[in-house]
Amino acid sequence: MRTTPTPPSACPGCKRPLQAASSAGNSVPEPGDFSVCFDCGQILRFAQDLTATAAAESELSLLEPAKRALLSSWRARIKRTYPGV
Ligand SMILES: [Zn+2]
Repeated sequence: MRTTPTPPSACPGCKRPLQAASSAGNSVPEPGDFSVCFDCGQILRFAQDLTATAAAESELSLLEPAKRALLSSWRARIKRTYPGV
Protein backbone atom coordinates (compact mmCIF):
# COMPACT_ATOMS: atom_id res chain seq x y z
CA MET A 1 0.00 0.00 0.00
CA ARG A 2 1.28 3.44 -0.84
CA THR A 3 -0.03 6.79 0.47
CA THR A 4 0.76 9.98 -1.43
CA PRO A 5 0.18 13.49 -0.05
CA THR A 6 -2.13 15.61 -2.24
CA PRO A 7 -3.00 19.32 -2.07
CA PRO A 8 -5.67 19.98 0.57
CA SER A 9 -9.26 19.84 -0.70
CA ALA A 10 -12.63 18.75 0.64
CA CYS A 11 -14.67 15.72 -0.39
CA PRO A 12 -17.59 17.02 -2.46
CA GLY A 13 -19.80 14.37 -0.83
CA CYS A 14 -19.13 14.74 2.91
CA LYS A 15 -16.82 17.79 3.06
CA ARG A 16 -14.15 15.80 4.91
CA PRO A 17 -10.71 17.35 4.39
CA LEU A 18 -8.64 15.31 1.94
CA GLN A 19 -4.88 15.58 1.86
CA ALA A 20 -3.63 12.18 0.72
CA ALA A 21 -4.53 9.27 -1.52
CA SER A 22 -3.74 5.61 -0.92
CA SER A 23 -3.46 2.80 -3.41
CA ALA A 24 -3.51 -0.93 -2.76
CA GLY A 25 -0.41 -1.27 -4.90
CA ASN A 26 2.45 1.12 -5.48
CA SER A 27 0.79 3.62 -7.81
CA VAL A 28 0.57 7.37 -7.21
CA PRO A 29 -2.40 9.58 -8.14
CA GLU A 30 -2.29 11.38 -11.47
CA PRO A 31 -4.62 14.02 -12.94
CA GLY A 32 -7.75 12.32 -14.27
CA ASP A 33 -7.43 9.27 -12.02
CA PHE A 34 -10.47 8.12 -10.06
CA SER A 35 -10.65 7.47 -6.34
CA VAL A 36 -13.24 6.83 -3.62
CA CYS A 37 -13.77 8.79 -0.40
CA PHE A 38 -13.27 6.38 2.51
CA ASP A 39 -15.74 8.31 4.65
CA CYS A 40 -18.79 8.56 2.40
CA GLY A 41 -18.09 6.52 -0.75
CA GLN A 42 -18.17 9.52 -3.10
CA ILE A 43 -16.43 8.65 -6.35
CA LEU A 44 -13.73 11.26 -6.89
CA ARG A 45 -11.57 12.32 -9.79
CA PHE A 46 -8.24 14.10 -9.45
CA ALA A 47 -8.00 17.51 -11.13
CA GLN A 48 -4.84 18.77 -12.84
CA ASP A 49 -3.53 20.02 -9.47
CA LEU A 50 -4.48 16.69 -7.78
CA THR A 51 -7.29 18.17 -5.71
CA ALA A 52 -10.31 15.86 -5.49
CA THR A 53 -13.46 16.67 -7.47
CA ALA A 54 -16.73 14.77 -7.83
CA ALA A 55 -16.60 12.34 -10.74
CA ALA A 56 -19.37 13.02 -13.25
CA GLU A 57 -21.59 10.14 -14.29
CA SER A 58 -20.60 10.82 -17.91
CA GLU A 59 -16.93 10.35 -16.97
CA LEU A 60 -17.66 7.07 -15.20
CA SER A 61 -19.54 5.73 -18.20
CA LEU A 62 -16.36 6.07 -20.30
CA LEU A 63 -14.39 3.75 -18.01
CA GLU A 64 -13.71 0.14 -18.89
CA PRO A 65 -16.40 -2.06 -17.28
CA ALA A 66 -13.84 -3.75 -14.99
CA LYS A 67 -12.62 -0.42 -13.61
CA ARG A 68 -16.19 0.83 -13.16
CA ALA A 69 -17.05 -2.39 -11.29
CA LEU A 70 -14.00 -1.96 -9.05
CA LEU A 71 -15.05 1.58 -8.08
CA SER A 72 -18.62 0.41 -7.43
CA SER A 73 -17.43 -2.47 -5.27
CA TRP A 74 -15.28 -0.16 -3.12
CA ARG A 75 -18.14 2.28 -2.81
CA ALA A 76 -20.52 -0.51 -1.70
CA ARG A 77 -17.98 -1.78 0.83
CA ILE A 78 -17.61 1.70 2.34
CA LYS A 79 -21.38 2.21 2.49
CA ARG A 80 -21.77 -1.16 4.27
CA THR A 81 -19.04 -0.33 6.74
CA TYR A 82 -20.32 3.18 7.44
CA PRO A 83 -24.10 3.09 6.89
CA GLY A 84 -25.84 6.40 7.08
CA VAL A 85 -23.12 8.42 5.39
ZN1 LIG B 1 -16.67 11.93 1.42
